[in-house]
Amino acid sequence: MTQARHHRRHISAAVSWTLLLLAALAVPSAGRADEPYARSRDYDLQNIRTHLWFDIEQRQVRGEVNESIMALRDNVSELRFDSVGLTIESVTVDGRTGKFSMTSNDLIVTLEHPAARGERHEILIHYHGQPKKGLYFVLPDKNYPQQPEEIWTQGEAEDTRYYIPLYDYPNDRTTSEMLVTVPAAWITISNGRLVGVKDEADGTKTWDWKQSETLSTYLISVIAGEFVERDDSWHGIPLRYVVPRGKESTIEPTFERTKQMLDLFSTKLGVPYPWAQYAHAAVDEFVATGMENTSATSLTTHSLVNPRLAAEDHDGADEVTSHELAHQWFGDLVTCKDWANLWLNEGFADYFQRVWNEGRYGADDADYEFWRDQNEWNHQPRLFPMPIVSRDFDDSTEYQDNVYDKAGWVLRMLHEKLGDEDFYRALRHYLEANRGQNVVSADLQKAIEQATSTNVDKFFDQWIYGAGAPKFAVSYTYDSDAHQVKLAVQQTQKVEGRVGLFDMPVNVEIATASGRETHSIEVSSASQAFAFPADGPPLMVIFDRGDHILKALDFKRDPAVLIYQLKNGETTPDRSEAAVALGTLKTDPNAVAALGNAAQHDPFWGVRVESLQGLGRIGGPDAEKQVLAGVRDSAPWVREVAVRELGNFKEDDSLPLKLSKIASADPAYRVRTAALGALAKIQAQNAFEVLVAAVKMDSPDDALREASLRDFGRLGNIRAVPILMEWSAAGKPLGSRQAAIAGIAELDKPNEAITQMLISYLNEPSFDIRIAAVFALAGRGDPGAIAPLEDLLHKGELTIAIGPYIELAIRLLKAQPTQK
Ligand SMILES: [Zn+2]
Repeated sequence: MTQARHHRRHISAAVSWTLLLLAALAVPSAGRADEPYARSRDYDLQNIRTHLWFDIEQRQVRGEVNESIMALRDNVSELRFDSVGLTIESVTVDGRTGKFSMTSNDLIVTLEHPAARGERHEILIHYHGQPKKGLYFVLPDKNYPQQPEEIWTQGEAEDTRYYIPLYDYPNDRTTSEMLVTVPAAWITISNGRLVGVKDEADGTKTWDWKQSETLSTYLISVIAGEFVERDDSWHGIPLRYVVPRGKESTIEPTFERTKQMLDLFSTKLGVPYPWAQYAHAAVDEFVATGMENTSATSLTTHSLVNPRLAAEDHDGADEVTSHELAHQWFGDLVTCKDWANLWLNEGFADYFQRVWNEGRYGADDADYEFWRDQNEWNHQPRLFPMPIVSRDFDDSTEYQDNVYDKAGWVLRMLHEKLGDEDFYRALRHYLEANRGQNVVSADLQKAIEQATSTNVDKFFDQWIYGAGAPKFAVSYTYDSDAHQVKLAVQQTQKVEGRVGLFDMPVNVEIATASGRETHSIEVSSASQAFAFPADGPPLMVIFDRGDHILKALDFKRDPAVLIYQLKNGETTPDRSEAAVALGTLKTDPNAVAALGNAAQHDPFWGVRVESLQGLGRIGGPDAEKQVLAGVRDSAPWVREVAVRELGNFKEDDSLPLKLSKIASADPAYRVRTAALGALAKIQAQNAFEVLVAAVKMDSPDDALREASLRDFGRLGNIRAVPILMEWSAAGKPLGSRQAAIAGIAELDKPNEAITQMLISYLNEPSFDIRIAAVFALAGRGDPGAIAPLEDLLHKGELTIAIGPYIELAIRLLKAQPTQK
């Protein structure tokens, strides 16, 4: 799944921590602790034919499912199907009434005679239920009469069993047919090929979808409702773009690069897109950002790109659409055998996001994104002791950035180790040899060795089965007698548990007055010394030129050397790293000047961003002047950062007026919202009035209104409480409500009326509102919210990805010093 976590970076500054967490949340479940090892199987599910009907008002599903199975051992007397909360009406075995019993998690069908290995049976099950998860209804109500009717599913990790009784663990694959009977005006999307749509006598229609290649059952998808579909095709394969009624204008800006992505990935991999269709369907209230159901990706409508905002967005929805498309090979064509090997799905999907980055914008962009991924990973110390392949996770989200970001990074290192040709040769062989199968990490190792004759066992031991990454402490001196740069390199990570010392080649770039040279060294022990010839004192020393190794680096250098690197480093990570280091030098006017120069003139937008942030950290009038110059940047996403950084210069009395002008006049809404945030941050005298005015303004996606509602929280002026109460009330647009809930969370914390209002939102039908309320309550610190949050948790109706956040909120509230 994805992964709004990458959208974090592009979200405007005005967005509060609540929303950031929300975004992080949209990363899907990483796995389940209750079944860390794949099951041993008694039977093979060979085909599953499901027919679903819905009682929309009652939020009920009625189903008929025919499971074609083959016994995998002798003496199989019972067949277990995962089934949670479903009422089984009848079971027939090969056309005759069958015996069955239920546990809370299983439907157990007893065979009349024990089956022998290879014996086949047809099990037909009639059932109904009101799924707690797995299948979701989004419906209009008195507050939202315009809401399109939508039904959608989310199977990963193990939720398909909530609406179909079936074998529901990834280590089996089946062909599948899905029939869905719905109102005539609805459309549906499911896996595979649309066989046909049949009119029923009662005026409904039955859509018939058939997936002729195998899938694991968590990848089954059903979407039905008042959607609009636009069709296209790619090499004869139908492409379907599906959005809720009313969102038609987002289709083009969101999906317009799908064909280029299909071209790029098919060409790079040498394995053409493997399915009978590719559908993207965006649904409201989706519980992840994206989900790579086989041939039929689901997305949240939050990912849709408003055409009026497309030009001011650096990469639109590409992060999520490229991620899910990559999964169609990695995750769907070959599927992890158990959740411990989830990186074989997610690491590749993350890596190919960057392959798309590079294809669209060039290597500078992709390198910079990797550098930022590295920083994010380094900021989560809990990830360090845990290997990428682990059966030891105790919840679904805690270690996901190992499975996503770190694994994507490791694949980048593997790519560089093998070289372009061998890397893709190995991937092609891995995909072909394991096509239609479930895999573990050793399958990839073996495929690489078979295809390239390169043994990667040590690499996998370090990076996949071992934990952590090197923490380097580096220093150098110049020996003017010997004409040598002497470099001392230490690995300072604590060697314990699964964390060892790392062994790898590292490129060191040294520039002197007469030129620059890159040297390759082999780093392998805790402490090493290296010497390089240099005809004069170095102007610049870069350890791991271009940032090709996932690492943390502690490398103190003189300001002059860093300034040289910011100006003359050839790669975007090298210049970015210098900008960050210079941003820690509070009292050096040369650092300010160099950062200002880079903020205005660096050809790459990311280095301008890092320089502006460095200036913001330094503060003071000289830095402010440089940041103000950055407000003229032609790229809206750089201007946005400049304006946000102005929030660090509250001593300047002229700033409120400047920011107010930007808030009303910048051509990009993301810059205007950043100005609102900065006004709140500096506690400008006019901030309250400017925010009140912005709440009243209409803008694409309500960007200005939502930003100002959130910023009231940061401003901390309780005069905003009535406004926030008004905008958080049922009936207001959901986005505005979420923003108002985030804003009010910060205000008047002892006010129990606010807390009670937030508690009441926990029971609303909207997932987005509930989760906004969870975060708001966590932030208010009122222990009165603990019991209602525990109730919500125990209802168990929210998908696995949400539970940990409710638990986190409860933990935070319990940890408060008792008030009142
Ligand atoms: Zn994914």
